[in-house]
Amino acid sequence: MDGAPGEPTRRSDGGSSLPRAWAEVDLTAIAHNVERLRSVVAPSGVWAVVKANGYGHGAVEVAQAALRAGAQGLCVALVEEGAELRDAGVDAPILVLTEPPTHAADDLTRYRLMATVYTTRFVDALADAARARRVDGVPVHLQVDTGMQRVGVPFDDVAELRAVAAGVARHHPVLVPVGVFTHLAVADDPDDEFTALQLSRFDDAHDLVATVLPGTGPGRTLTHVANSAGGLAHPASRRSFVRAGIAVYGISPGHGVDHLCDDLRPALSLRARVSYVKRVAAGSRISYGLRHRFARDTTVATVPIGYADGVPRRLWAQGGEVLIGGRRRRIVGVVTMDQLMVDCDDDPVSVDDEVVLIGEQDGPDGPQRIRAEDWADQLGTIGYEIVCGIGRRVPRRYVVAS
Ligand SMILES: *Cc1c(COP(=O)(O)O)cnc(C)c1O
Repeated sequence: MDGAPGEPTRRSDGGSSLPRAWAEVDLTAIAHNVERLRSVVAPSGVWAVVKANGYGHGAVEVAQAALRAGAQGLCVALVEEGAELRDAGVDAPILVLTEPPTHAADDLTRYRLMATVYTTRFVDALADAARARRVDGVPVHLQVDTGMQRVGVPFDDVAELRAVAAGVARHHPVLVPVGVFTHLAVADDPDDEFTALQLSRFDDAHDLVATVLPGTGPGRTLTHVANSAGGLAHPASRRSFVRAGIAVYGISPGHGVDHLCDDLRPALSLRARVSYVKRVAAGSRISYGLRHRFARDTTVATVPIGYADGVPRRLWAQGGEVLIGGRRRRIVGVVTMDQLMVDCDDDPVSVDDEVVLIGEQDGPDGPQRIRAEDWADQLGTIGYEIVCGIGRRVPRRYVVAS
């Protein structure tokens, strides 16, 4: 990407005024969402999760906007994601949420990232890397698995909890214990009692860790449990800070917490321009497999965006629509790798007309909106997967709007 980091209006479309397709990211919406989350979870803090290129929105730009809006730290999934932020000049605390391969311990210390640990093997590798680089005081967060069963020391494995905590203690002060955390599995279903069970398992595990790791008792370490849904729906999970991902982007974590997301603003819109227009005859068929047959003569617009850009191939069969001229238009025929076709009825449509795939457009019947969550509902997935799937070749354009 071109342009200096921190310059909010930079464009990465090569300067063309008519890109074929682009994702527009409203950094004012990011800031609004962070401020909103901060006020909801106060006095707990907010750390913005910017893994996976900021859920497809652009990690550096989102991180900077979130920090300006009062996020206290950042979370990433990979060491290289943390390195990208440091290379762009981000100086805030950055937590890597899982143990990387041991060979990445060196970069983790070099880029001054905070480590998540849950195996003695990685604890030792991290301490070795820090000593070799003469870095002292690598901040470490111990992750407890309280039921998600993805990563973390199992809450009920007392021997392992003691062993990992003792490993960190043995390497003090090369390793500095600063946090204990866990991750929630069903926070987006407020009625599910499993969240309360995870919280009580977490508190017990934290007490145990504190007996082995002096200085990490309740009230003395950072503890963090909540993702976006936890922070919104489970006050008891907010702890020192909430690791907020999807809500920062203005997307609901799931239908169970939709009602708590009304004040969030979607930051991303996905847009393109019509590349080709034609009339087609009743009875003719379209796209690979000729699976859609036109019932009447109609106007078809071709839009130069496809599944390589993150528009799922099967969206057409699930009622997928786009906005052109402020009206909802059906996608007809399978979405191809680089292009899709849209039935525009008999309305005028021209090459270069703007097409909104996700986002808002004004029209004769007022503003129309298609959300990432709408695609997710049609496709049987979640908004996360939609925005993370927007392809690398779609330029991101950053705007600071109202
Ligand atoms: C991705 C992730 C988050 C953020 O979750 P959201 O639902 O997007 O808020 C928080 N914590 C961990 C450990 C994660 O992997």
